[in-house]
Amino acid sequence: MQQAEIGLIGLGVMGSNLALNIAEKGNTIAVFNRTTARTAEFVGEAGDLAGNVIGCNTIEEFVAAIRPPRPIIIMIKAGEAVDQQMDALMPFLSGGDIMIDAGNANFRDTMARFERLKDTGLTFIGMGVSGGEEGARHGPSIMVGGTEESYRRVEKVLTSIAATYEGDPCCAWLGTDGAGHFVKTIHNGIEYADMQMIAEIYGILRDGLGKSAPEIGHMFGAWNKGRLNSYLIEITEKVLAATDPVGGKAMVDIILDRAGQKGTGKWSVIESQQMGIPATAIEAAVAARSLSSMKTEREAAQKIFGLEAAKFALPAGAKLEDDLELALFAAKIAAYAQGFAVMAAASREFGWKLPMPRIAQIWRAGCIIRSQFLDEIARAVTATPDAANLIVTPAFADMVKLSLPALRRVVAAAVTAGLPVPALSSALSYFDAYRQARGTANLIQAQRDFFGAHGFERIDGVDRPHGPWGSGAL
Ligand code: NAP
Repeated sequence: MQQAEIGLIGLGVMGSNLALNIAEKGNTIAVFNRTTARTAEFVGEAGDLAGNVIGCNTIEEFVAAIRPPRPIIIMIKAGEAVDQQMDALMPFLSGGDIMIDAGNANFRDTMARFERLKDTGLTFIGMGVSGGEEGARHGPSIMVGGTEESYRRVEKVLTSIAATYEGDPCCAWLGTDGAGHFVKTIHNGIEYADMQMIAEIYGILRDGLGKSAPEIGHMFGAWNKGRLNSYLIEITEKVLAATDPVGGKAMVDIILDRAGQKGTGKWSVIESQQMGIPATAIEAAVAARSLSSMKTEREAAQKIFGLEAAKFALPAGAKLEDDLELALFAAKIAAYAQGFAVMAAASREFGWKLPMPRIAQIWRAGCIIRSQFLDEIARAVTATPDAANLIVTPAFADMVKLSLPALRRVVAAAVTAGLPVPALSSALSYFDAYRQARGTANLIQAQRDFFGAHGFERIDGVDRPHGPWGSGAL
């Protein structure tokens, strides 16, 4: 009987496309899905690739169809389902087999699963996959965590299905246990910020300047030819240009303003807070999604407070389109700088030695935040690997100096007009606070010492760590 090189469980949106991608690259793949009718349907729809697909109706049959040692991709709903699937697989597996969780797992779950398999002879890989349905089918960005040895055993097939950027596969081993899923989580956190900032610029144009969706789309189309060139800007242009086939209006105008979220944005924020690394633009974006879901409350509040009557107006002399483009660019730099700072901290915390330039490189194609900009990040972090933050690398410092005044003008005008720009303004405040050598935490320290005798450090080096409050000098 023909045996497969690899197996895949979960023929949903991502799994079925990934399986076709694997089959197309000349591999024979065994597939299994909890609802078995889906397996038959999938094989039936596989067309010319059906010869490379072995559809299986039971786990036992599935495991027997793969040549040992078996790499098995699990691409199902994240969470408990993965543990249940692992439990169901384990009795049929043998030494050397690798279970690869390719869903959006919390990296802490991945660490626990990796640990659980450690002394069993089996191996666990946590693999972040980005690129949505299209990426899974034709080339995603793949972020792998696990032992290096286990990665080397699946490297050939993974690099063959990954996207490429100028011939370089967007797939890499990033570190042990949860490294791959952690990096995928931060990828998604940055994606939240990127999308929110784009939406805020759209909001300024729609509500502050009365532009129509096609007009705004046209502007994004022009920006996509310049420094903002990216997949997210490209799809924003397309989305804004689309017409609703039902009512004939701009599609975006009849979509409810309530955004969903599944967890990776929130996890990015939780982990950044745990490590004490500010990721304010990502936090603002996650909070904005939560606020978006409070539709009824927002409607009630608008009845009480109304909207600001002021129109969005930039100071005389500022060129509107250039300023909006540069503002978005500056804010984007802040979001990426924060994401990379969080990854650098996690690398230290979990001992991963995350390869920052390689992460930027494997995000250049295939994934949702793909862009030319990531190539610039890769070059900057390669040239100055010890820089404390992306924004102080020479190339990015120049970009920030160029674009920050526009961000300031845009945020100021939006705030005056009452237009919400939480992610753009968080990015601006991040720059302003980060570059302020003498901040205001001296007052916080004094307050803490006043109510809690927490002490403080003096700038003159005198050894007197308490203030003269309350009943006099402490
Ligand atoms: P999906 O289309 O909803 O498919 C879910 C799959 O999980 C189905 O095959 C389903 O089987 C299976 N499943 C659900 N609960 C199960 C259980 N308890 N035991 C066994 N199988 C179970 O989901 P998807 O979009 O492909 O996403 C799969 C994973 O990839 C998720 O972790 C998701 O977060 C991640 N991901 C998604 C995207 C994206 O753009 N969609 C991108 C990157 C990563 P049945 O057919 O039997 O229900």
